[in-house]
Amino acid sequence: MCGIFGVHGAPDAAELVHLGLYSLQHRGQESAGIVAVDQNGTAQAHRGMGLISEALTSGVLEQLRGDLAIGHTRYSTAGSSTIENAQPVLVRFRGGYIALAHNGNIVNATELRRDLEAQGSIFNSTMDSEVLVHRMARSQAERPEDRLTDALRGVEGAYSLLVATGDTLMAARDPRGWRPLAIGTLGDTFVFASETCALDIVGATHLRDVQPGEIVIVDRQGLRSVQALEPLESRRCVFEYVYFARPDSRIFGGGSVDRARRALGRALGREQPAPTADLVFGVPDSANAAALGYAEETGLPLELALIRNHYVGRTFIQPSQQGRNHKVKVKYNAVREVLEGKSVVMIDDSIVRGTTTRGLVHLVRAAGAREVHMRIASPPVTGPCYYGIDTPSREELIAANLSVEEIARHIGVDSLGYLSLEGMLAAVPDGPHGFCHACFSGDYPTAPPTDPDKLRFGCGC
Ligand code: AMP
Repeated sequence: MCGIFGVHGAPDAAELVHLGLYSLQHRGQESAGIVAVDQNGTAQAHRGMGLISEALTSGVLEQLRGDLAIGHTRYSTAGSSTIENAQPVLVRFRGGYIALAHNGNIVNATELRRDLEAQGSIFNSTMDSEVLVHRMARSQAERPEDRLTDALRGVEGAYSLLVATGDTLMAARDPRGWRPLAIGTLGDTFVFASETCALDIVGATHLRDVQPGEIVIVDRQGLRSVQALEPLESRRCVFEYVYFARPDSRIFGGGSVDRARRALGRALGREQPAPTADLVFGVPDSANAAALGYAEETGLPLELALIRNHYVGRTFIQPSQQGRNHKVKVKYNAVREVLEGKSVVMIDDSIVRGTTTRGLVHLVRAAGAREVHMRIASPPVTGPCYYGIDTPSREELIAANLSVEEIARHIGVDSLGYLSLEGMLAAVPDGPHGFCHACFSGDYPTAPPTDPDKLRFGCGC
C-alpha cells in the first residue's frame, strides 16, 4: 500500500508535502519521495529508501523549490523494494515532464506493459505505475486531463493517483473507487491526500473526495473536474476500515475510521462473546478501537496488556519473512501485572499469516495468562489482494489452508472467533453494499491478474 500527498499553489509546496507524508507513514515505510515543480516548470525529484525521516532530510527539501509538489510513501505490493521503484515517478518527454504518485495496483499491468514494450518503450522500474506515464506520454491529446484520460482507458484495477505536468496538478480515482483520496483547501492552496489525517497536519479543510472515475484538475485558473471514466459499481476497500487507514481519518466520503473500528468491535462482542473471560485488550495500535468496542458491548474491563515499541515499523511491511519474525520479538512486550492468572480476550483486527498472532499468544501466556481467547474484528483472510493491500499469496494465508479450529491450535489459544462477513459489512460506515471484500469472500470484482506472482514481485505499488 502507499500514501500520496499533493499541493498546488503554496510557496515551498514540498515542505507541506513533507509534513503531509508524515501522517501517511503508516501506509508505507519502504521508501518516500517528493517531486517539486518551480515557476519555470522545472521538476526536481528526490526519492530515498526507508522512513520519511531517513529518505527526505532537511537538506533535500531546500532543493525542492516551487509551488507545486507531490509526494509518496511506499511499500511494495508489487515491484521489489529498491530505489528504482520508489515514487513519485518522474519522466521527461516531448511535452515537458510528467510526475506521478500512485496508490493501488493495476491488475492488467503485465499486458499493458507487454504492449508498450512491443512498441519500443523502455522501462526504468518494475512498477505497474510506470505503465501509466508511458501511456500518458503517448497520448496525442492537448489538455493534460485528456492525456490522463487516454492513459487510464483500458487500465483495470485500483488506483488513486496524483499526476503533475506543466503547471497542472491532477488527482484521479479508478471507476470503482477502491482507494481513498481526499481534496482539501488551505486558503487558495489545494491539497490532496490519501487520508484526511494528512490534511489535518497541514491545517487544510476537507472539501470533498475525488469521485470514482473523476479527474480533478488544478492549474493557475483554479480547480475544475471531468468525469473521465464512467463510474462502475462501487468497490471501496473494506480493509482500509479494518486495518489500513488511521483512526483519526475520515475516508470514502466522510466515514470515520475510529467509529468503524469501534462498531466492528461491538459487532464482534455480540457475535463472539467470551463468557469466562476476566478482561479484554487489543493488540496495539490497530486493534485498540475494536477492543474498546468489544469492551463496551460485553461489559468486560478494557486493559492495556501489550506494550508496543513505537520505534519499530509495522512487522508486516517487512518484505521478507525473516525480517518479520525478528520484528515480532522486538515490537511487543506483555504486562505481567495485567495478565497473571487471568482469562483474557485478545482482540486483533485480522490474522493474515498467523506469524505475529502466534508470537503474541506465546508472549501473553509467558506473562501468566491462564486462558487466551482470541477474537478477530474481521472474517478469515482467505485470498490475496490484487488491489493494493500487501496480503501474501494464498499458500501463505493461514485461513486459506487451515480451519478455524486448526488455526486456534496453531496459534495456541483456548478459543478463536472471527467476525462474520455480514457483521463486518453491516458495521462499517455506509455499509453493507459497495465494498470490495475479495480477500475475505473470494468475490473479486475483476478477473485475477494473469500472473499474480509477477504482479507481486515484478511491478508497482
Ligand atoms: P499475522 O498474525 O502475522 O497474520 O499478523 C497479523 C497482524 O498483521 C495483525 O495485527 C494486523 O494488524 C496486521 N496486518 C494485517 N494486514 C496487514 C497488512 N496488509 N500490512 C501490514 N500489517 C497487516
